[in-house]
Amino acid sequence: MKIIDAHLHVFPHEEYAERIARAANHENSLTHLKSVYEDLGIIGGVVMGNRPLEDTRPEYAPFLVYCVGLDRIPLGPEYVKKQAKLVEEHFQNPQCVGLKLYPGYQRFYIYEDWMEPFYELAVKYNKPVAVHTGLTASEDALLKYSHPFVLDEAATKFRDVQFIMCHFGEPWYTDAAAVIEKNPNVAVDLSGILEGKIPDFEAFTRKKHMYLERMRGWLEYLDCYDRFMFGTDWPLANLEDYIEFTKYMIPFEHWDDVFYRNAVRIYHLPFTGKEA
Ligand SMILES: [Zn+2]
Repeated sequence: MKIIDAHLHVFPHEEYAERIARAANHENSLTHLKSVYEDLGIIGGVVMGNRPLEDTRPEYAPFLVYCVGLDRIPLGPEYVKKQAKLVEEHFQNPQCVGLKLYPGYQRFYIYEDWMEPFYELAVKYNKPVAVHTGLTASEDALLKYSHPFVLDEAATKFRDVQFIMCHFGEPWYTDAAAVIEKNPNVAVDLSGILEGKIPDFEAFTRKKHMYLERMRGWLEYLDCYDRFMFGTDWPLANLEDYIEFTKYMIPFEHWDDVFYRNAVRIYHLPFTGKEA
């Protein structure tokens, strides 16, 4: 089975990234990532961008494509014109497959009227908009901006935009399910739910049974496995664990869609299987 990692990060050699990679039994390096991808049959990945917006030719490795991220920059009506111009330059780069928003980490509602220029470009260039939803990794973030409900208003207002709810709104699965059921232009990635290395998967499923059963229950309720994508949030979690976890969550007959086909279709990926 071919696999695409629909959500990862490429961090420089900084203390935070080294630490989380080590905790996941990995190394924070592209060479290591490539070899783990090869071992596990992951043919490519979609990087959620964290680099400066001005860097419009970021040159990721050939087995990677990226979503340009609006990360750690001031956002608001006074900045949007200049930033939209840069986003458009990214969209003209064949390696750029979408836009990534970081609400929660950044204090803004994704459905604000002033966001419209970004969404117009997303429609014009046929690029999905991936949105961080759910819990955040830092305490100074604000969850009201990353609750899955913010996607309801954005998806309703900007109907022609293909949104991706990153992390399935974790742990607000009930609320996330309502937003997904109501809005056909919302797809989901299942990244960011694990972190570190799971020493014993059986023990993990016993300990977290309520959480895992609820999540699986809402997946079954939605029954739209053509809108869910495998993703790891590398370097946050062990990749082998992540595949096992996703197989545990998704019925066998939908593995091909969730691990591969949906990402190719939703992100319009160029991967052929020879990249990694
Ligand atoms: Zn992420």
